[in-house]
Amino acid sequence: MTAYAVISDVHANLEALHAVLAKIEKDNVDRILFLGDSVGYGPDPNECTEEPKDRAAIFIAGNHDWAAVGKNDSTSFNIHAKIAIDWTGEVLTAENREYIAGLPLTAELEEDDIFLVHGSPYEPQKWHYLYSEYDVVDNFSYFKEKICFVGHSHVPFIAEYSGRGPVSFHDNITKIKTDCRYIVNTGSIGQPRDGNPDAAYVILRDGRIEIKRTSYDIVLTQNKMKKAGLPSYLAERLSRGR
Ligand code: ZN
Repeated sequence: MTAYAVISDVHANLEALHAVLAKIEKDNVDRILFLGDSVGYGPDPNECTEEPKDRAAIFIAGNHDWAAVGKNDSTSFNIHAKIAIDWTGEVLTAENREYIAGLPLTAELEEDDIFLVHGSPYEPQKWHYLYSEYDVVDNFSYFKEKICFVGHSHVPFIAEYSGRGPVSFHDNITKIKTDCRYIVNTGSIGQPRDGNPDAAYVILRDGRIEIKRTSYDIVLTQNKMKKAGLPSYLAERLSRGR
């Protein structure tokens, strides 16, 4: 099987993205899969669109990506997210805007039985959040592949389902079982919300799924956000991972 790194929710945080890409380099994977939200919240939306565009084999759309280019409604965003997305819309280059507007909502990798979506397999265009068994269980009916990778909630998990009984959740590592299917939330690179400020990503190789974390220079990102005039709440939450 091909070895993959699966990444999501960079949110214009270039320091976190670079830290993860450096780790991925050492993990020696064959392909990088990116689940979207390159922009929104952070200070480097252009670089954080261009690097995944050059380095990822697949790049699908996130809700902030499409909101930044006016393809998605941002009226449901909270005030901090809205201010950041309006700023992002102003600084994105014409080329990056065009690229983001053309991103697909989902992707399938038939050869390795993998499905990719930013929010949820059920109604991808509505950006539902997956956190718990309550949110996850019905979603197994809305994709046919063995493993589905999602992002969006910024809270990583590995959900394993045999088709009956409860869904089991693994915190950071599991061996893939032949009689189970999986929904894996990779967590977020640029704005983790599980109480751990380290950037999160996933490695899939040799029949194993592993959620990995890496620290990065949060203060540098926070200083860039201040300089750009982005909401201080968005900078401050990076330290807390919330
Ligand atoms: Zn996000």
